[in-house]
Amino acid sequence: MNQALADLIKISRETGADPTLVQGGGGNTSVKTADGKYMYIKASGTALKDMSEKVGWRRLRLETALSVVKDKEIAQMPPQKRELKVVDRLLEACDDNVKVEARPSVEAHLHAWLDKCVIHLHPSSAGAFANARNGRAKLEKLFKAEKLPPLWVPYTDPGYMLAKRIAGLVERYQKEHGSRPAILFLEKHGLFVTAPAAGTALRLVRRVIRLCNSKLKQPKKAKPKPVSPEKIDAAMACIDQAYTLGTGEKTDIWYYYNGAIEEFMLLKDAGKMLVGCLTPDELVYSSGPAMWVEKCDARSIAKRLKKQIAAGKKHSAAFLVKGVGLVAAGTEKMAPTIRDIVLYSIFIRTNAARMGGILTLNKRQEEFINNWESEAFRKKLADGKR
Ligand SMILES: [Zn+2]
Repeated sequence: MNQALADLIKISRETGADPTLVQGGGGNTSVKTADGKYMYIKASGTALKDMSEKVGWRRLRLETALSVVKDKEIAQMPPQKRELKVVDRLLEACDDNVKVEARPSVEAHLHAWLDKCVIHLHPSSAGAFANARNGRAKLEKLFKAEKLPPLWVPYTDPGYMLAKRIAGLVERYQKEHGSRPAILFLEKHGLFVTAPAAGTALRLVRRVIRLCNSKLKQPKKAKPKPVSPEKIDAAMACIDQAYTLGTGEKTDIWYYYNGAIEEFMLLKDAGKMLVGCLTPDELVYSSGPAMWVEKCDARSIAKRLKKQIAAGKKHSAAFLVKGVGLVAAGTEKMAPTIRDIVLYSIFIRTNAARMGGILTLNKRQEEFINNWESEAFRKKLADGKR
């Protein structure tokens, strides 16, 4: 196997197996070949942990991926058209023998601008800072001893705009510091680590996470006080009924509970802390934050779901039922992702609240993700028909 591909699989599996680092199909990785001609990158829509020699990646011509951000024609297109064009261009840049239908990560053109090995994750520890009002200042202090200070990237719509913004910030950083940044914190999004070798990149990820965690409140590891099976059954039945009533759809219902969930539900402000979307991924994978349910009443929950739909929002897929636990609505495949996103979210919210307050996506940013996602999805369907 090619060394760059072997490195890609190693960094992807090692980081992808930890749900505090990345949840569901989120995050992406890439490794450029030694001759500088190609870049191996995670394929869109697959999980990092599932990458193998055969699936989960694409190989791109680096030159073509780099040119996307500088393309004047693309820069002038309206957002929806632009993002589709970028997807096409990245697909054109692919040069490999991959037989399965898979697009390169939508952030491929962004990776092209960074060092040889790139690891992009959504760690809850980095998120606690990236989603906190005082997060940036705290990070500057925390990483003061670093030879190369982390680069802070203000929130930018994902896709083309983010790649362009990062390309610009990296160029400026390089002028100022004489080399490219190794650590990038993306506001309301996540972490990028980049290094000349796979081992160095992995070690840097671990060090960043350790440093972030050193200042954060960790959730309770011990088992929670047990909840009676009757209470659990009643809550699951209630959410099932509310979901059908509110959305007109049938779904499967799942139940999760642990020390972290118990601890969060005991917070005085738990309900208030669940307002607003933290990151694009929370919106994409769990349709926004969990709905806080003080008392399980199917009719009133259904009303809240209908209200979300009427406002053009995605309706909740996760429900934190006070005193009972987390109830998730979705397929068997999606439910564990929803659980991991909720655990990530309550960790971030608890800690960000202690750092000046929780930063969430505004209405426009949320709408962009919803449109972008549906366009990307339509594209996927169209591709499947070809
Ligand atoms: Zn991301």
